[in-house]
Amino acid sequence: MTPSPLPYRIGYGEDAHRLTEGRALVLGGVPIPHAERGAVAHSDGDAVLHALADALLSGMSLGDIGQYYPDTDPAHAGLDSRVILADSLALVREWKYVPANVALVITLDRPKLGPLRADIARNVAALLGLNETEVGVSFKTSEGLAPDHVQVRVTVLLRRVEQ
Ligand SMILES: [Zn+2]
Repeated sequence: MTPSPLPYRIGYGEDAHRLTEGRALVLGGVPIPHAERGAVAHSDGDAVLHALADALLSGMSLGDIGQYYPDTDPAHAGLDSRVILADSLALVREWKYVPANVALVITLDRPKLGPLRADIARNVAALLGLNETEVGVSFKTSEGLAPDHVQVRVTVLLRRVEQ
């Protein structure tokens, strides 16, 4: 079914991964230095890019990345999450929408991510064709409630482009 041609559409996505030793931690395509643990995942476990791809798809009412990349498919093992994001963005563009701005919240107890805020914003912006002032990055801790997880929540505003 054709998505209604609203001038703007809101997308929301979230993702969480368990953390374990011996894995690299990558968020928004940025490797996190001094992370003692990384995401347990079938793919590279980049929770920012997964939540963002889901937000893009949800904004267009196109389902979620689990439908396009089932984690039961061995072909998706170790998949670069930038590919998942690029595919989702291509679907949004097919329907003549582009991201206008993004707000993302990363919940992680350790390490502290504050010094990486600009790196993550820049990298996510580049992946979406935005500039870094159009990507808001907030950090939270779980206050010890979920020390073994990384969680990401993302909203994205999609703007219809004129033909
Ligand atoms: Zn994920």
